[in-house]
Amino acid sequence: MSGTQVLVVGGGPVGLAIALGLARQGVEVTVLDADTEIGRAPRAMVHHPPVVVSLGQLGVLDDALSAGRTLSGLGHYIWETEETISNRFDHLPPDFGLPQGLSLGQDALTEILLRHLMAEPTANVLLGHRIVGLGQDGSGVTATVRTDSGEKRFTATWLVGADGAHSGVRDMLGLSFDGMTWPDHFVATNVRADFDALGLEDANFSIHPEYGGVIARIGSTGLWRFTYRESPELPIQSYEDRIDTFYRAFFRDNDVRYEVVAHSPYRIHQRSAPTYRVDRVLLAGDAAHITNPMGGFGLMAGLLDAACLSEALGHVVRGLAEERVLTRYADERRRAFFEVTSPASTAQKQFIFDERPLSMRKRELDALRRAAVTGSAQARFLLTTFAFVTPSVLVNGQEQYT
Ligand SMILES: Cc1cc2nc3c(=O)[nH]c(=O)nc-3n(C[C@H](O)[C@H](O)[C@H](O)COP(=O)(O)OP(=O)(O)OC[C@H]3O[C@@H](n4cnc5c(N)ncnc54)[C@H](O)[C@@H]3O)c2cc1C
Repeated sequence: MSGTQVLVVGGGPVGLAIALGLARQGVEVTVLDADTEIGRAPRAMVHHPPVVVSLGQLGVLDDALSAGRTLSGLGHYIWETEETISNRFDHLPPDFGLPQGLSLGQDALTEILLRHLMAEPTANVLLGHRIVGLGQDGSGVTATVRTDSGEKRFTATWLVGADGAHSGVRDMLGLSFDGMTWPDHFVATNVRADFDALGLEDANFSIHPEYGGVIARIGSTGLWRFTYRESPELPIQSYEDRIDTFYRAFFRDNDVRYEVVAHSPYRIHQRSAPTYRVDRVLLAGDAAHITNPMGGFGLMAGLLDAACLSEALGHVVRGLAEERVLTRYADERRRAFFEVTSPASTAQKQFIFDERPLSMRKRELDALRRAAVTGSAQARFLLTTFAFVTPSVLVNGQEQYT
């Protein structure tokens, strides 16, 4: 039986960010992940300014910036008219003072977090360790873990479930995952194609009920991520057979060259656990809440959980705050999901795939066009992403709430 101060179940970006935040405070932390290597499927790519701030706080921003690319701006490609409304971040005043967002594949970000974590003397990462049992009492938590060499038991004072949307920790706590699954599904593709010829920025929304989606440059790889949706009538199992048809139609059969190098279909949901804390066990990231990715807010919400939780839990473990700050973490991050993340993601999905004729959307598109000239849209967009942040539940290392 091995003991530690905190067990983090799940070595995805959220679990690793929590573990790194704890290890930076000198907390003993062990990460358990069921897989034997980190996930490489196309997933999150665009990181908004609050994530850039939190990567800086974790001490990994320089590596993230050199592996990725600072976003040039945000484009809206109106598929029907072939117009690109380009909101360039270099229109911002030089003293604007906020980072501009980052394009970096989730796999590359995970690798950077893992590398920094492995260098921490109080951290331990165990791959090929799947949690299959969980118990707790007033003084600690026991996890039963399945490995290739048999079952093992780990004890800790606290346990964080960051084991993704199908969280075993959440199930073992007996918690539901309430909400809805959208009838349509998405396909994430990594593609080599000349999107620059369409005048796109590093991050873009293509606006159209059929050819809409998110198109983002993948760091400096020369590839783009295009995540588009398919109608509920089409079976998700055969999505691969339709990729070429989609791209040919997107490029209007204009003999444009493209090469799809990776693809992955997925169903999308708006769901949350009823609570993110059950005594000594906390939930974070996709284990706690999931959203459709059309705003790029899914991973951001998880990384903001990580920033809030690692600070609060680190203080509790070090005896600098009472454990009720953890309830505050759980309540505030759940509130942020319901009041900000989920509605903003849903509104963005509706905006992208709106079925109304363009003539009925003139007002909102004209507003985007006007704002692109003045730079006000860029500033507003960058500022609004800070609405997703939960301020520290501590003040100067002390509890804020008494
Ligand atoms: C195809 C796809 C595209 C996406 N695109 C975007 C996007 O463009 N923008 C965006 O913001 N978000 C996007 N998302 C969502 C984003 O990827 C997630 O929000 C993010 O991965 C959440 O990170 P996480 O660390 O919470 O969970 P995960 O990344 O899922 O990591 C969970 C980890 O837990 C491990 N694990 C699972 N069960 C166990 C167990 N029983 N024991 C031990 N370990 C276990 C897994 O091996 C995994 O490593 C996308 C998701 C998908 C599926």
